[in-house]
Amino acid sequence: MAWLPPSIDPALFLDVMSFRRLAYFLGTPGGELLKRAAEMVFYLLIVWMILAEYRQRKRRDYKYLAAGFFALFARNAIMSLILFSGVFGTVPFTRFSLAFLFLDQALESLALLAIVGAFLFPVFRKCAQRFQGLVMLWSVGVGMAHLAVYTLVKQSLCSQPLGEALVDAIQISVLLLPFFVIRKASYQRPRFARSVLVAFAVYIVWPLTNVISYLLIGYVDPRVRVIEHPLPFISMFLLLRAVYLDMVDKAGLYSKLRQSEATIQHEKKLNQLKDNFISIVSHELRTPLTSIKLYLALLRQGKFGKILPKQESAMKTVYDESTRLSDLITDLLTLKKMESGKLELEKVRFSLPEIIDDLYIHIAREKGMSVEAKLAPCAVLGDRNRLKQVFINLMNNAIKFSEKGGTITLSCGNKGNQCFFAVSDTGSGIPKEELPKIFDKFYQVEDALTRKNQGIGLGLSIVKQIVELHGGTVDVKSEVGKGSTFTVWIPKN
Ligand code: ADP
Repeated sequence: MAWLPPSIDPALFLDVMSFRRLAYFLGTPGGELLKRAAEMVFYLLIVWMILAEYRQRKRRDYKYLAAGFFALFARNAIMSLILFSGVFGTVPFTRFSLAFLFLDQALESLALLAIVGAFLFPVFRKCAQRFQGLVMLWSVGVGMAHLAVYTLVKQSLCSQPLGEALVDAIQISVLLLPFFVIRKASYQRPRFARSVLVAFAVYIVWPLTNVISYLLIGYVDPRVRVIEHPLPFISMFLLLRAVYLDMVDKAGLYSKLRQSEATIQHEKKLNQLKDNFISIVSHELRTPLTSIKLYLALLRQGKFGKILPKQESAMKTVYDESTRLSDLITDLLTLKKMESGKLELEKVRFSLPEIIDDLYIHIAREKGMSVEAKLAPCAVLGDRNRLKQVFINLMNNAIKFSEKGGTITLSCGNKGNQCFFAVSDTGSGIPKEELPKIFDKFYQVEDALTRKNQGIGLGLSIVKQIVELHGGTVDVKSEVGKGSTFTVWIPKN
């Protein structure tokens, strides 16, 4: 060690020497055997891990991935056996080295093809069938190309270094594919795509330097081999990392999905309970209300004795309010039925003006409004009671949003193959920007706290749904301060 320059620590030099010795050892058949055996175990573990995932998810790309890593395992297993018999046995390598060298390379190329296929599969998911056929065809092509190069070398029609360079060129063609495909197809997960491309880029250095080395000096320098040897292994490690992160990402997503599914189920149950509650309460309210209205009508007719004018006025108020309450209950029950898809129309042929209920004309007049009617008969096929509900809701709104002295006009007629029924008022009107929203469930133009008119914002939503069930439409024209016109269009019959 005396010749060492004084700046170099002899201990470090020893380290360099041991590294050299290790590099030399790895270049011998014994070292190669060690590497191959380690890789074999590594790939076997990967196959086992991916198959476990495949059994759960049945994803086609995992199948390809497992096949690819299995080919890598098989390649290392075969080479380990040969190296083992060469190092510890009596069979000389030279007896089958060329055939096995090509088998080793062919298995590597097919493994790469399957792995490349696995990463391209999600990109091609839409045309998976065709893509699968293409990968199969290409695998056969790659296998044949290897066989052809082997035959050429065996027949001494081409030198072994040239044969190896050709095989490297085949591998480069396989490894370049993801760069074209993943870059061209807009891949949904850029982070994942980037790690996959980096892994393939690391792998490609190996065959690329071999080809360059062949082109420059006619063979591959053993020192180059020592440097590039770990690259495929590192590349597979990077690929595995990408797959692992992808699996973990997905597992996280699945658990979130399961959680939100449970929440949705819970909310669905609550909604159902709420719906049932509304329907029970509505039914329970409706029965006594019918008796109240019946007895009020009898009282007002003087069936239980003479009624004083003051009593009559009080009873009228009670009667009107109970009508309002029963309209509200009808709306709630109708909405519930429509939402559960249980509303069945009892269709009959009738003339559209028959949906007018005189009671509401009466109520409007009592509130100091004049009611005009321009009615032409028009026959439709529909559910009379449901369309009556449409009239009641539109009429109730016209009354609610008009002042004393206003005019409500009812018109009916036909245009083309449609019948129309319109309720027009000279009331408050609706701002233009609110018009698209008034048919939404529970939507009200004024704030619920400041509004002076009663209602829960269901009337127009029910009108729209009933009319649409009849194959018709509703439109509205309105101007603030001047009034509104709601027109219902139903196909003629
Ligand atoms: P509500 O129970 O509040 O009447 P609707 O669904 O029937 O519910 O109406 C929704 C909203 O549309 C009302 O709150 C009101 O602001 C507006 N609207 C409906 N009809 C008229 C009308 N004829 N004139 C003025 N505004 C109306």
